[in-house]
Amino acid sequence: MTAQETVDHKYVYDFAEGNRDLKDLLGGKGANLAEMTNLGLPVPPGFTITTEACQAYLATGREPDGLAGQIEAHLESLERGMGRRLGDPHDPLLVSVRSGAKFSMPGMMETVLNVGLNDRSVVGLAAQAGGNERFAWDSYRRLIQMFGKTVCEVPGEEFEHALDEAKRARGTTSDLDLDADDLRGLVDAYKKIFLKHTGRDFPQEPREQLDLAIRAVFESWNAERAVLYRRQERIPADLGTAVNVVAMVFGNLGPDSGTGVAFTRDPASGAQGIYGDYLANAQGEDVVAGIRNTVPLQDLERLDKRSYDELLDIMARLEGHYRDLCDIEFTIERGKLWMLQTRVGKRTAAAAFVIAGQLVDEGLIDLDEALHRVNGAQLAQLMFPRFQLDHDFEPVARGVGASPGAASGKVVFTSARAVELAAEGEAVILVRRETNPDDLNGMIAAKGILTSRGGKTSHAAVVARGMGKTCVSGADEIDVNVPAKRFTVAGQTVHEGDVVSIDGTTGKVYLGEVPVTPSEVVRYFEGTLDPDEADDALVKAVHRIMTHADAARRLAVRANADTGADAARARRFGAQGIGLCRTEHMFLGDRRELVERLILARTDTERADALAALLPLQRDDFVEIFREMDGLPVTVRLIDPPLHEFLPPLEQLAVDVAVAQERGEDVAKEEALLAAVRRMHEENPMLGLRGVRLGLVIPGLFAMQVRAIAEAAVRVTRDGGSACPEIMVPLVGAVQELETVRAEAEKIIAEVVGDSGVEVLIGTMIEVPRAALTAGQIAEAAQFFSFGTNDLTQMGWGFSRDDVEGAFFWRYLELGIFGISPFESIDRDGVGRLVRIAAEEGRAARPGLKLGVCGEHGGDPESVHFFHSVGLDYVSCSPFRVPVARLEAGRAAVETVGSDSR
Ligand code: ADP
Ligand code: MG
Ligand code: MG
Repeated sequence: MTAQETVDHKYVYDFAEGNRDLKDLLGGKGANLAEMTNLGLPVPPGFTITTEACQAYLATGREPDGLAGQIEAHLESLERGMGRRLGDPHDPLLVSVRSGAKFSMPGMMETVLNVGLNDRSVVGLAAQAGGNERFAWDSYRRLIQMFGKTVCEVPGEEFEHALDEAKRARGTTSDLDLDADDLRGLVDAYKKIFLKHTGRDFPQEPREQLDLAIRAVFESWNAERAVLYRRQERIPADLGTAVNVVAMVFGNLGPDSGTGVAFTRDPASGAQGIYGDYLANAQGEDVVAGIRNTVPLQDLERLDKRSYDELLDIMARLEGHYRDLCDIEFTIERGKLWMLQTRVGKRTAAAAFVIAGQLVDEGLIDLDEALHRVNGAQLAQLMFPRFQLDHDFEPVARGVGASPGAASGKVVFTSARAVELAAEGEAVILVRRETNPDDLNGMIAAKGILTSRGGKTSHAAVVARGMGKTCVSGADEIDVNVPAKRFTVAGQTVHEGDVVSIDGTTGKVYLGEVPVTPSEVVRYFEGTLDPDEADDALVKAVHRIMTHADAARRLAVRANADTGADAARARRFGAQGIGLCRTEHMFLGDRRELVERLILARTDTERADALAALLPLQRDDFVEIFREMDGLPVTVRLIDPPLHEFLPPLEQLAVDVAVAQERGEDVAKEEALLAAVRRMHEENPMLGLRGVRLGLVIPGLFAMQVRAIAEAAVRVTRDGGSACPEIMVPLVGAVQELETVRAEAEKIIAEVVGDSGVEVLIGTMIEVPRAALTAGQIAEAAQFFSFGTNDLTQMGWGFSRDDVEGAFFWRYLELGIFGISPFESIDRDGVGRLVRIAAEEGRAARPGLKLGVCGEHGGDPESVHFFHSVGLDYVSCSPFRVPVARLEAGRAAVETVGSDSR
């Protein structure tokens, strides 16, 4: 440490001073460069300027005291170590300036290579490279280009044009064919561009180049795209970025030099092997820029066996050290290998499971850790049907994978046409430039949605995710012409009625119908694929990790299911009961007529008759479900929606009546219905006559349902089965409501159950904020609580989901008011607090009170962790989400404090 540093706060760390645990301070790139340095790997020397320096700069608008001196000191020691000086006209040291935040972030300043070159040192560099003038001028033109673009905001195309111009003059398309003179000319052209856009000459003073580049990295933290990305990904805005200054090594010194990227395993499948790309005679950014064709990393064995062997050796060491898949960047300078970056690599969902399983086999991690390395979002992805792409399907465009799934259908351009064709039984894909609330019906009718604009938070994306519908947004190669009913892409025109296929996971768009394969993981969950026999590494890995999750978790997982078929499916997916059986569908179809009779009943007898006719139908429904769920609890919710939902819409009735009157037909019944619809109209049905309020207002309604449940349970039990019904009263806000319903229900149950041994629990939903806040009182009358977090969210925030998701959520997400829709993931601070209060006060009043959740949040990974932490007994979600909830409940149980799942 220098004398300066003992006085000042330490802002600069040599690579030898850091390690991988210092990501907060040194950023991901810096921390891992330090780690590799300390492992003794060949990393070019360098130092990292801390995120704290960046924070200080951003807070005050200037470099903090002491920073300049510390950089000077570290630069000097770098120069000493390298035996070269920055700006030395005869033998210059060059450095790269690389940003590197804790989380990698698109939109921030990238890297400037070759800092330190100027009109004089370029000559020295050529001499040091054995008279390789081409190399020196190529490096110089790269510096001006990158520096101009990223530090001084010179439009990148201008440099590209000048480069194309030089290639054309030489009659070539490859930059390798440009000779030293061409490149010298290009440097002149670049300097003119620089001057034109910045009003000054390209800085010749190396230290000024360095300082400006560092400052530009600091400032790029607040670049618009970076700010937006952080909001969406919920990365705190005040972390700041670190800056790495690294001695340059050169992959562009000739055929014995080159640069490449590699993965220690296949990031797509998880398979072990050698995966990477190599480009001879090139500098770092060429590999990703796709300027020239790379060769597979295996070819390096032939080109440079020694470096290849060393690289493989290092990759094995890194894997062992990080105990995970690593990705790396390297450069070979005249046969000498240098490591330029490593990090734990991104991977596909399938690879995540496969690799976690492999690492357990290799003894690198245990099963708890394996469970931690995968997540429910990945599992959900693996459960969607996938396009079968072994045929020659090439995507024609690529957008944002906004809502997962695979969908094929006929292209339509308007909501109305989507509805029309869907009604004829056609699968349609709604294609729009962007969607707006008017498109809602079309979105509901379509199999998938494709837009040419907008990202993950666009209207289309938000609404599609809410509906669980496949969506690709922002496929900007697609040019949509709605009035002409066509779009063009890649030189082809697609008309209304043509078939396209969209992949909402990858964002890819295909012309024609791509065949869809069901997910193997689903086949495994459904029990049609035996993991021991499957030769599929993925299924085996999923099985193993799920088994561990089930053993580890404390939360039980139930399913929301309304029919025997749903119940059976849920059970196959591992549901341990039904947490929500809605009874309203039992009032639909040909039973509507009975409901109409119930609503129109003018006397007690008429009403009792209608209910008596409904009773056996309901009883049969319950019998079916209790049979499927034999031995497992089934929570049945008494009827919840307002009754007018079962009547035809006002407009339709009015027309029917008018038409019938015209024809002179008897319209007494229609007129009565119309009058009822008018009478029952509500301004805010969400807050109207529904739930327990219905039960208290319409005599006999709840009683009929309770009787049907109890009779069904008795029948199943008498037949040798075991039914465990739990009757759930919706929308309770006050204990008195529940007490009233309960008193009546208990009488009926006692009468029906007799000595059959059937036990029926009576509990309530907690979905009105008042219920949460008076949970202590309500618990006196409830044998269980089930949190209805959809309604609790609507009423907690005071907005109705159907109205708001399309209307303004996209804007709230864009502004960062929501990190994620509160209907997708529970709002811990607000709605979650209501859940916590109710859980605590409910259990205080009635120890052992059974607590569950039955909103859609029950299948959301983040929310499952929250419900685990609140101490609920179970979550309940749609059958398809049951495996996700099982996995996340297991992860929540083994979660180690302070672990970083990002
Ligand atoms: P990114 O985060 O975009 O990968 P990097 O900072 O890793 O940006 O740099 C971009 C490219 O420049 C990479 O290919 C990297 O290997 C290369 N590079 C960075 N620093 C050096 C250096 N000191 N010597 C040679 N190549 C470098
Ligand atoms: Mg990199
Ligand atoms: Mg509700």
